[in-house]
Amino acid sequence: MTSRLRNELLDVDLAIEKLAALVRPVADCEDARLADAVGRVLAEDVVAPIDLPPFDASAMDGYALNAAGLGDEGLKRLRVVGCSAAGRPTDAKVGAGETARIFTGAVMPAGADAVLLQEDARQEGEWVETTEPIRPRQHVRERGHDVKAGAVLRRFGQKLGVYDLAWMAACGIPTLRVRRRIRVALISTGDELRDPLAEEQLAGEAPPAMKPGQIFDSNRFALSCLLRERAALVDDLGCIPDDQEKIRDALREGASRADVVVASGGVSVGDADFVKTAVEEIGSIDFWRVALKPGKPLAVGRIGDALFFGLPGNPVSTIITYLLFVSPAIDLLSGAKATPPLMLPAVLGDPVRHSKGRREYMRGTMRERNGALVVRITGDQGSNRLATFANANCLVVIEHDVGDLRPGDAVRVVPLPSEAAHPMREPG
Ligand code: AMP
Ligand code: MG
Repeated sequence: MTSRLRNELLDVDLAIEKLAALVRPVADCEDARLADAVGRVLAEDVVAPIDLPPFDASAMDGYALNAAGLGDEGLKRLRVVGCSAAGRPTDAKVGAGETARIFTGAVMPAGADAVLLQEDARQEGEWVETTEPIRPRQHVRERGHDVKAGAVLRRFGQKLGVYDLAWMAACGIPTLRVRRRIRVALISTGDELRDPLAEEQLAGEAPPAMKPGQIFDSNRFALSCLLRERAALVDDLGCIPDDQEKIRDALREGASRADVVVASGGVSVGDADFVKTAVEEIGSIDFWRVALKPGKPLAVGRIGDALFFGLPGNPVSTIITYLLFVSPAIDLLSGAKATPPLMLPAVLGDPVRHSKGRREYMRGTMRERNGALVVRITGDQGSNRLATFANANCLVVIEHDVGDLRPGDAVRVVPLPSEAAHPMREPG
C-alpha cells in the first residue's frame, strides 16, 4: 500500500528540481542603500574602493617603536617623543632609541613598525623600559590586511547578509546594485477563516463574536512575516471564501501584479478544495502532491507570468512547504544560485513513529552533548499544531524509506532559518 501510494507522489528532491526549472530570474535592477539591501541579491560584483584597514594601525594600547636593532635580550630604554590616538595621529617621527605612546586603532607613526604592549612596559616621565623581546610587525594591523583596494568583496548573484553589508559599510560604500525585490501576492482560502486583526479591533472597539466553526487565519500572518524577513514585497489579498469564482478572480488579480502568487488551503481533494481547478481555468499546474509530510497536497504551477504555489492549509504544512519550496524560489527569481540547505548529522533523543512512503520534516530542538548534536522532537507532530514550533531550532528529516526510529538512532537535521528560529534553549 505504501509503495503504491508513494508512486502517485512526486519525490521531494525531484519536485524541487522541477520547480527550479520553472523559475526565470527577474531582470530588473536598482540601486539600494546598504540598509535596504539585507537579503537582496547582487546584480554586479562589489569591488573594495579602499584598503581595509586604510593605514597601518596599532592593534593594542602600548608604545610604537622600531624593532630593528633592539635585540631580543636585555633591558631596552626608549624616549617617548609623541602620542598617536585613534583619529588623532602624531606628526612625530620615531627614530632609534625612541618610541610614541599609541592606542588601539591609531595610525602607526613614521619610523615605527611594532607595538610594545602597555602591560609589558614601565613608563617614568619621558622614558619607557622593557625587557620583553620585540618582533617587527608585532601588534600592528597592516594596511589592507582585511581587504585590498580593487579586490572583489562579494560577487554578482550572491545574496547579501548583514555581515557582508557591515564589510561594505567599513569600505564606505553607500549603495549597491541589486535585483529588484520579488513581489508576492498572498491569499488565504476557506469559509472558516477570519482575520485575526479585525478592523473593529484595530480601531479599539470590541471585535465581532466568533461565528460557529470560525478560526483565525494564521497562515497569511506567518507567510507575510517570513516573506518580509527575506526582502520580498507582500501584496496581501486577504481571506477568500471557498468559492471557485472568487478564488479564481483573486488569483488572477494577484498574478496580474505579482511575480509569485501564494495561496494557502483548498488544494486537497475535499469538496471545498477549489484552488487547483481555479488555477487550471486561468493558468496551469506543473505538479501536485509531493511525497512530503506535512505538506503532501502542495501544488505548483503558473498563472500568466507569475509562479503559483498552492500550499496546504494546515498551519505547519503551510510553513514547511514555504521553507522548502517558496523561499528557494524567491532566491532563484532574484538571480541567486540555489544552495541546498545545510544538513547536520544528529542523534535522536526521542523515539519516532514513521510510516514509510513520505519524507517527513519534524520540528526538533537540537543541542550539543559530548561532541554530538542530540535532537528531541517537540511533542505530537500534528500538522495543525503550531505548538510544535515552540522551542524548535531545526527540522528533523526522516527519509521516506525509513520506519520507526529509537532514541540513539542517527538522523539528519536542517537548522531552521534564523528568521524563523528560536534561540537555542533546552527542550521544556
Ligand atoms: P485545507 O488545506 O483548506 O483543507 O485546510 C486544512 C486545515 O487547515 C483546515 O483545518 C483549515 O481550517 C486549516 N486552515 C486553512 N487555512 C488556514 C489559515 N489561513 N489559517 C489557519 N488555518 C487554516
Ligand atoms: Mg479549506
